[in-house]
Order: sequence, then structure tokens, then C-alpha cells
Amino acid sequence: MAGQHPPPAPAPAPPRGLSDQRRGTYRYTRPRGGGPRRTTGGNVAGIVGLLAACAVLAVLGFRLFGDGDGAVGGPGLGRQSVSRADATDNRLYKTGPLTPVACRLPPISEAPESMRRFMNMLSDCLDASWGKQFGKAHMGFSPPDRVFWVRSGRSPCGSYPNPGASAFYCPANHTMYVGLRHVVETSGGEPLSNFAVFARVIAHEYGHHVQERAGILRYGHRRMEDASSVAVRMETSRRIELQAQCLAGAFLRAERRTMGITRRQYLAMLEDVRGRGDERLPADQRDHGSSRNYAGWVAIGFRGGDLAVCNTWTASADEVD
Ligand SMILES: [Zn+2]
Repeated sequence: MAGQHPPPAPAPAPPRGLSDQRRGTYRYTRPRGGGPRRTTGGNVAGIVGLLAACAVLAVLGFRLFGDGDGAVGGPGLGRQSVSRADATDNRLYKTGPLTPVACRLPPISEAPESMRRFMNMLSDCLDASWGKQFGKAHMGFSPPDRVFWVRSGRSPCGSYPNPGASAFYCPANHTMYVGLRHVVETSGGEPLSNFAVFARVIAHEYGHHVQERAGILRYGHRRMEDASSVAVRMETSRRIELQAQCLAGAFLRAERRTMGITRRQYLAMLEDVRGRGDERLPADQRDHGSSRNYAGWVAIGFRGGDLAVCNTWTASADEVD
């Protein structure tokens, strides 16, 4: 799709989404540029997932702040002009709700190819939906690339599978990475029939791409890089992640009729994200948000209205805790 691109990032950027995948005790595991997400309940697998997720975070921490290679928009990205208004007053916020694109999805079965088909069709819908929205804002847009993997591999943001990460977005090459088996394994045993749970994962990673195209992610990364404390860095990460949650909710709402997101599907999806809160983690690992907020921002997006409802950058500290 034609569209303007921001200058390509010369250096690898950290993946977004590492957290969103955690599950289990309270951490399930899900990627981000940060951390896993969890689900309610607690079990050994969850604890293992948590530890693994922490390992991912440690690696990310190094990538982000330790190598001076501009992983997150540091020196490597150059000091491009980045404005706070890119995040707080983005044109995208004034484009109203997403326009439905009549998204229809196939059922998911045990076979990885089934999940691949589901994710490809869902990604097609996301391309169409967000493409329209950027068009409304008269902003250039190009869809992300997709890597739906079964076998291990490498990305500019690191290799996969990565412990605790079943899906992530790599800004360096504008690509979403999702492990077709891993996303199920890290979902805490979620039945495949609860497809909205898996749809939310992709819609969230896509949300990071939207942030990237809109210039929001660049501001977020710059703010993390310049943060005077771990607390500010983590809060910034949470604003990024919670916004991706809200953007996912906004998309799911727009397509709820054709996708068949019933109340049962919606509640299962909310329960899933509620289980991925990070409030029980040490403060320096709280990069995704509490259970309340991690679910709350999906709900805000799903409630509908102008995309401005997804502006986490002007939200109070409590709302992004
Ligand atoms: Zn994320």
C-alpha cells in the first residue's frame, strides 16, 4: 500500500509485546517491548513463565538501555525531531471511531495452519481498518509485515522463541511476530473457541504498529531513553502498552458484529487480559500495567467513540498504574 514512511530506524528497536504474553500465576506471557501479560490463577507453569518473562525483560533492558546502539531510539535512531504532541495530540485521535470493514474470521482448530489462517485473515482486516483510519487523518500508512512462526528464527529485535514471548512487534522492520503454537501454549489453556482472546493478541501487536506509523512509538521510546528514573521509564512503557490495548479494543468493537464477538467472547477476552496484570512484579519490571488497567483500557477502546479515548498519554498516573 502506498504511503509515507517515517525515516527507517537505523538500529534495532526493542520489540513491543513481550509482556503481553505471559500467563499463569499472574503472569502469563505475552510480548511487548516489555513484558508478559498474565492471567488469573496460579500454577507452576505460570511461575516458570514469569521467570522466563523476567529474563526477557532483562535482555530487553540491556538492549534498550545498555548497549548504546540506539535500540530504542537512542543514539542509533539519531535525535530526530520528536515532539510530545506526537503522542498527546496525534491526528489519529481526531478520526472518530474505526470504520467497520466487515471482518470475518475462520474457526481455529488445533492445527497450526488453522491458527495461521485465522491470523492472516485477521491481519488483513486490521490492514484495511487502520489503512482507512490513517486515510481519514491524511496520514501515510503501510501495513506491517507478519511472521507467524512455528519454527524458531531471528528478528532484528532478537531471536524467537523467546522465553515468555509468544508475540511481539519489532519496530525496526515493522513486523509482527507470533508463534502459532506458542500463543496457545502461553494462553493458560484458553479454549480455541474463545477466539477473541487470540484476536486481541494480534490486534494489540498491530496497535504497536499503529503507534509506530503515527509517530507515537518514537516519542515513547525517546521518553524511555531520556527517563530520569526507572519509575518514569516503566510508566512510559505502560502508556505505550495500555494504548495498544485500547487500540485493540477499538478494532474489536468495530468488527464485533461480523466477527461474532458475543458477550461470552468479550468476557473471556477481558478475563484473559485481566490475568496479565503486572502489579505483583517488582517496580522495575512493571512495564505493562495492573490487571485493572490492562483490562480497563481494552474495555475503554471497546466502548467506542472517538479514538481520542485511547490517549493514554494524557491519562492520570492512576489510570496507567
Ligand atoms: Zn505490547
